[in-house]
Amino acid sequence: MAKDFDTPRNDGIIDNLEELNTRSTSKSTLAIDMDESEAAEGLELPGADLSGEELVIQVLPQLDNEFVCTVCFLVHHRSQLAEASSAPVCRDCDV
Ligand SMILES: [Zn+2]
Repeated sequence: MAKDFDTPRNDGIIDNLEELNTRSTSKSTLAIDMDESEAAEGLELPGADLSGEELVIQVLPQLDNEFVCTVCFLVHHRSQLAEASSAPVCRDCDV
């Protein structure tokens, strides 16, 4: 007789747990799917295909009176060189 009372109770609890698990799983799966689609959209930039583009600006080699800053990697004139540092650092980066 006790089994007759216990069995439907247990089934009810298990059903609820399974339902909760199913809901949480489907929710998390939905969230992951949304993130992936958003990430894919972020990667697909319109007009990002630059294979046909040509470099328009003229690239000049570093001049004798210029240096490349070891911090910001920008080319500066010698007048912008911070004298205190051993490595070439521009005055903007020399703090
Ligand atoms: Zn710099």
